[in-house]
Amino acid sequence: MNWLALIPHFCLNCSKPCEPIDLCTKCRENLPWTLETFACEPYESATSLFDYRNPVDTWIKQLKFSRKLYIAKLVGLLLSEQLERDWEAIVAIPLHKKRLRQRGYNQAEEIAQFVAQALKLPLIKPCIRIKSTQRQTDLNKNDRETNMFEAFECEHIEFCNKLLIIDDVASTGSTLSEFGQALKQQNPDVQLDAWVIAHGFDRKN
Ligand SMILES: [Zn+2]
Repeated sequence: MNWLALIPHFCLNCSKPCEPIDLCTKCRENLPWTLETFACEPYESATSLFDYRNPVDTWIKQLKFSRKLYIAKLVGLLLSEQLERDWEAIVAIPLHKKRLRQRGYNQAEEIAQFVAQALKLPLIKPCIRIKSTQRQTDLNKNDRETNMFEAFECEHIEFCNKLLIIDDVASTGSTLSEFGQALKQQNPDVQLDAWVIAHGFDRKN
């Protein structure tokens, strides 16, 4: 028996009872869905699940800064519902170890873990973040690119030609882009697709 199934669920947005994904049908329909693709080198495709606005912007902030890890499960499941099992493995954008120590977890990895579980794909960690970068949200577009330059170091991945890269938020896309380039440096033949939970161009959040 799955005992977890006996625990009542309540909508995280309006608190009405619901199941099983912690979001009632109405709130779910009213989410800022976009499923919009955006150009981001060197990815074959880069897509966002939501626009970065209410309630998703609040969720992301709570996940990142208030340890509300159940949000990772919620958005991870909402994302995996949109995906087919098209890849061989999943990679989350890593945090620098300094930031990881401060926060205690990597929110992108927390999300990716649920996607990996749902799609029955391995979550692999072929890269590390070698530069402790300034928060991207504090910078303008050009400074963001400079800030992210050579921020990651990746290793060669055996027997893997198609990867799904996951991050929580893309603003200008410079983090995603730099990460993809670092992966490609060691794995020139790998095909990369990216999905982010929310996309908000040039918004100071
Ligand atoms: Zn609701």
